[in-house]
Formats: sequence, structure tokens, C-alpha cells
Amino acid sequence: MGSRFDITVVAPDSIEAHSFIDLAVAEITRIEKLISSWDPNSQTSEINRNAGIKAVKVDRELFDLIDRSLGISKLTDGAFDISYASMDKIWKFDGSMTKMPTEDEIKSSVSKIGYKNILLDKENSTVFLVNIGMKIGFGAIGKGYAADKAKKLLMSKGVVAGIINASGDMNTWGKQTNGEPWKVAITNPLDKNKAFALLPITNGAVVTSGNYEKFVVFNGVRYSHIIDPRTGYPATGIISATVFAPKAEMADALATSIFVMGMEIGLNRINQIPNVECIIIDEKGQIITSNNITIEKL
Ligand code: ADP
Ligand code: MG
Repeated sequence: MGSRFDITVVAPDSIEAHSFIDLAVAEITRIEKLISSWDPNSQTSEINRNAGIKAVKVDRELFDLIDRSLGISKLTDGAFDISYASMDKIWKFDGSMTKMPTEDEIKSSVSKIGYKNILLDKENSTVFLVNIGMKIGFGAIGKGYAADKAKKLLMSKGVVAGIINASGDMNTWGKQTNGEPWKVAITNPLDKNKAFALLPITNGAVVTSGNYEKFVVFNGVRYSHIIDPRTGYPATGIISATVFAPKAEMADALATSIFVMGMEIGLNRINQIPNVECIIIDEKGQIITSNNITIEKL
């Protein structure tokens, strides 16, 4: 998934623990094969290749993931949009960009973004991207989804406690062997080697989106990898958004969305969703938290 997964399980012995970890790894690999937009053999690539051409029949699992993604688009007024991926050709965060994209390039790609042009046919389990050049990608939700599935699988096998850590996005269940809840450190975006708060978490996910990992700099401006679907430009203003939610998928998608919605609207939206909390840090270093969260700063 282009990200590192670290898996921790509580098990009677290390042999069993390793076999559980192998199961989780196999599950994550299976999901990557289905949803990767980089792998030309994935069903997601098949959908993208047929943009503007025809509807593509996909596994129920992928269909449902897209369906839920559209639900999050509605919840965030389009801040979250898996069709952001038409901008992939314009903004690259792998170090290969040498100059700022032109206004025209951005305009022509942004016109292809629009979750309302992702048409689902539930009966036939098909997905159709209405316009030529449209593309979907699960960069903001796939990691969380895979973590949820791995967790669910291990729980169904009787694993009492564990952590699925997807590049710092934590999905936990149960407690540590000493009976204490798992504690999750929130990275300080201004100094990524320092944790900024430590929070207990028993059954749920903590996901942070930050602009301090993937970005490009032009003329002293830092452009992060989260795209505002309205403009085609990277979202600005926020440097870190941490979301707590029962499911990693939701936390993942909402952390990304907050970047686009901005501090005020993002906070407002999170406060309206039950069992979901957030910590947002903006570029001025201002820290705000949702209504039901208190952080003990380190
Ligand atoms: P990470 O955890 O990898 O740092 P995020 O979960 O914040 O990142 O997701 C960022 C990724 O989501 C981008 O790299 C891109 O693949 C995708 N993305 C960018 N903008 C949007 C958007 N507006 N809606 C949905 N996905 C997006
Ligand atoms: Mg995300």
C-alpha cells in the first residue's frame, strides 16, 4: 500500500503470535491487490481505464468501499473525493516535480474531479466513471480500510488484543498484557521526533494526516499531498489533523478531509459526528480540539 504496516498481537506464545501476524499481512496484501490504483492488474485500474467508456463489474468488497467513500464525500461536502486522483498527473510528491504546474494544466485536470460522476449500480455491482480522464484512488482511505479488515480478521480468530499500525495510524483492540489501555503518542508536527501528547485508547483508531511527510516546495510555498477538489491545488492552512474514531477507515478519510475543510469547518463537522474526535494544528501553531477531548500535553 506504499505504507509500512507494523502489527502487534497479544497471544499465548510467539509461534501463535507469528501465525496471526502472517494472517494479517496476507489480508492486507489481498486488499492492496484489489484497491491499488498503481497496480495495472487491480480492479481499481480496470475502472480507471474505462473512464468515459463503460461500467466495470467489480467485487462487492470494492463496490462497497466506493459506496462508503461517496458517503464520506457527502458528509464532507465533497472535501473528501476519491476522484481527486485525476490530479495525480499534475502533482507528484515523489520528488520528480521540477516546476509548478501551470494554471491550464490544473484547470483541465480539476474539471475531471467530481464524486457525483462516479456512478454505482448496486444490482450489477458495477462502477462507471462518467468522464474520460477521470480516475479514482484510495490514498486517503485504503490504509484505514485495510487496518480495519486485518483487525476484524484477527478478532474473529480469537486474538484478544492488538495494534495494527499503518505508518503511524493506529488501530487497536483489547488492552496491554498488564491490563493497561494501549497508549498512542501524537507526533508533534513542528518537531517530528517529539511526541506531543500521549492518549489512552482501548478499541478504536487514531489517524494523523500531516503535511510534513509528502510535499513539494515552489517559491518557498509548501504544497502538501492533499488536494482541494474545488481548486485542484493542495489544501493549505493546516499542518496536522488527528482523528479518533471507532473505525480506522473513517478516521483516515476524515483526517484528510479536515485539511480541505479547514480548521473551522473541519472542527464543526467533527463535533457533529458521534464518537469521533479530533486534534487540529494549523500553520500558526494553534492547536484546537473537538468538544469531547482533553489532551494531556507531554
Ligand atoms: P497519509 O496518511 O498517506 O499521509 P492521508 O490519509 O492524509 O495521507 O491521505 C492523503 C492521500 O489521499 C494523498 O496522498 C492522495 O493519495 C489522497 N488524496 C489527496 N487529496 C484527496 C481528497 N481531497 N480526497 C480524497 N483523497 C485525497
Ligand atoms: Mg487519510
